[in-house]
Amino acid sequence: MSDRKSHSIDPEAIATPGIRGLSPYIPGRNAEQLREEFGIHDWIALASNENPYGPSPRVVRALNEFDATVGRYPDGAGTELRQTIAQYHNEGIVGRNPSGHSNTAITPNQITLGNGSDDVLALIGRVFADANSSVVFSQHSFAMYPIVTQSVGARAIEVAAKDYGHDLSAMLGVLQDNTKENTVQPVQLVFIANPNNPTGTCVFDEELTAFLDAVPANVMVVIDQAYAEYIEQDDYSDCAAWLSEYGNLIVTRTFSKIHGLAGLRCGYAVSSVSVADLLNRVRGPFNVNSIAMKAATVAITDAQYIAQCREANNSGLQQLIDGFAELGLDYVPSKGNFILVDVGRDAQPIFEQLLSQGIIVRPVGNYGLPNHLRITVGTPEENVAVLAGLKYCLN
Ligand SMILES: *Cc1c(COP(=O)(O)O)cnc(C)c1O
Repeated sequence: MSDRKSHSIDPEAIATPGIRGLSPYIPGRNAEQLREEFGIHDWIALASNENPYGPSPRVVRALNEFDATVGRYPDGAGTELRQTIAQYHNEGIVGRNPSGHSNTAITPNQITLGNGSDDVLALIGRVFADANSSVVFSQHSFAMYPIVTQSVGARAIEVAAKDYGHDLSAMLGVLQDNTKENTVQPVQLVFIANPNNPTGTCVFDEELTAFLDAVPANVMVVIDQAYAEYIEQDDYSDCAAWLSEYGNLIVTRTFSKIHGLAGLRCGYAVSSVSVADLLNRVRGPFNVNSIAMKAATVAITDAQYIAQCREANNSGLQQLIDGFAELGLDYVPSKGNFILVDVGRDAQPIFEQLLSQGIIVRPVGNYGLPNHLRITVGTPEENVAVLAGLKYCLN
């Protein structure tokens, strides 16, 4: 008989304290999972802020042409995609200076690719936080921030929201009190989603640069611009334009939202070259697959499709807002491709009733918003359907 001790092993006790205390991210309900459970085939999926139109036709064509090269490893450096991303940002920021800030061109070695921007956020957490540090983020902000913080064993500091959005002056107060010199777990990292998910709130350039000006230089600031392409306003800039001024700034972007590639998993960070070098040390060598890189390269150059999706989103948002007004429902004004609506009572049963009608939205009780639902802007028909569903449930 072997005296193997496998029966007495408790892996939970061996796991790091951060992981032991971790609850996994709860994704939106997925149409494929629900098909069987409800016997409904065609779902209206408005739970995960995807582009209801999917990727651009040019991307679909490129994907159809994808061939046997999948037998080879991808370019681990992501050379072509990083060049294309740098160019994309430079078209927007070089020679334009709406905020009065300097606008040095972005170079490919400032770009770090990730398997979705979630991957990039995790890399940032591993590089800049551990059990000896704290991470700051806002109440009602993106659920990955507490998860990233907890998974590296860092202390989370959640700052109370103001009008459902970031209270930057309160956040600044926390940062200025918690520099390396005066606490056991100094703040080393701040996450700001702008626009914020799930609330859709946004802080604009003036407020954001004033914040960056005042943040202690030994605190890294992540500005997560997952929804940036949905906004076209002079007072909302590509924060990558500010990198030459703020060495502690990291901007993250994703291909999952306006670019319509959520299923392929691709996102990136734009930072200083030295921060990119640090992130690259913990990045998996082939963390983004060749199909995703190809699709992303085509998607980001299709400016016309991006503009078309932005316009469709603007009218879809208006359609939802008009519908909420008719139903007498309050909502949080949104700059993203989703909107938080207050159903005036526990939203969980409404969420479930909508499911039984074949409509998936997102309950946000886990974000401390039990009476709200987050609804992704769909096609005009999908928006009509979700408004009718809400009307039915609330009567
Ligand atoms: C959706 C979202 C992301 C992540 O998207 P990926 O699919 O992992 O690229 C990141 N940040 C915010 C605020 C989001 O809403």
